[in-house]
Amino acid sequence: VLTIGIDVGGTKIAAGVVDDDGHLVARRHIPTQPHDPVAVVAGITKIATEMKAVAPAAAAVGVGAAGLVDVRTGTVLGAPNIAWSNLHLRSMLEQRVKMPVIVDNDANVAGLAEATYGAGRGRGDQVMVTVGTGIGGAIVIGGKIYRGARGIGAEAGHIVIAAGGAKCPCGNLGCFEAMASGNAIGRVARERAAGPEASDARAVLERAGGSVDSITGEMVGDAAREGDAFACSVLAEVGRWLGIGLASLVNLLDPDIVVVGGGAAAGTGELLLGPARASMREHVIGHDWRAETPVAAASLGFDSGVVGAAILARELA
Ligand SMILES: [Zn+2]
Repeated sequence: VLTIGIDVGGTKIAAGVVDDDGHLVARRHIPTQPHDPVAVVAGITKIATEMKAVAPAAAAVGVGAAGLVDVRTGTVLGAPNIAWSNLHLRSMLEQRVKMPVIVDNDANVAGLAEATYGAGRGRGDQVMVTVGTGIGGAIVIGGKIYRGARGIGAEAGHIVIAAGGAKCPCGNLGCFEAMASGNAIGRVARERAAGPEASDARAVLERAGGSVDSITGEMVGDAAREGDAFACSVLAEVGRWLGIGLASLVNLLDPDIVVVGGGAAAGTGELLLGPARASMREHVIGHDWRAETPVAAASLGFDSGVVGAAILARELA
């Protein structure tokens, strides 16, 4: 069976037609206009219609959308990076595209894709954490996404791991996302470069045109890959927080595997994951006698959103 998967993020809308083996048989992407919900819906409609034309046999459409999504009603309740709220995305798309549609959170569908065809393939219950600009979470139990009573659970990015810590876009202090995301990498580097470590931060500062305020997580990742000691120590610090968050998830769920994806994780690799594993080990209960929970890098890359949304759509096929 063929299904269409659509991944709606803050910068682009990606779509593809996915076959039984999880292969993308067609794909396309267009930019998102995150400040204009009408344009976003028009973009999703356009790309879905194009995919339907490419694969008239496709049975259903799955959408992974950034934000809090109630999958039962197909409503996007709200999102930090796209200006939509209380939008009945499923019914709007069903009317326009004339196909059955299912809508879920983008991190949930990415987790489903990794569990089915990626780093978690063949494993049991698992958690995926997506480390990008923010942090998304997915819990896959018995091969199904766990969503909670209202369909908006598994928001791993907003478990508080450092009470009174850095401010999170959600308004709370010390969320996992505030402490261990790609944005956190940039924040920690800026804080440290503005202090007594300014001279150590030279290589990172150069990338930012000499302005501490312009330092981003990507610049830190780039410098770290070239072996810069300051950048590596920033990643070690943020990796330590990443491990603390992962340990909380492992303590709660005892998953078979933890999968870590997202652009910030992909761009830093073991420079971030290594310290995260060490810190997770330290913070997991019973670490002296229990088997260590493996932490694996996601393997599907940016396709995981599209593939996961298409897997979800099989429920309607
Ligand atoms: Zn938060």
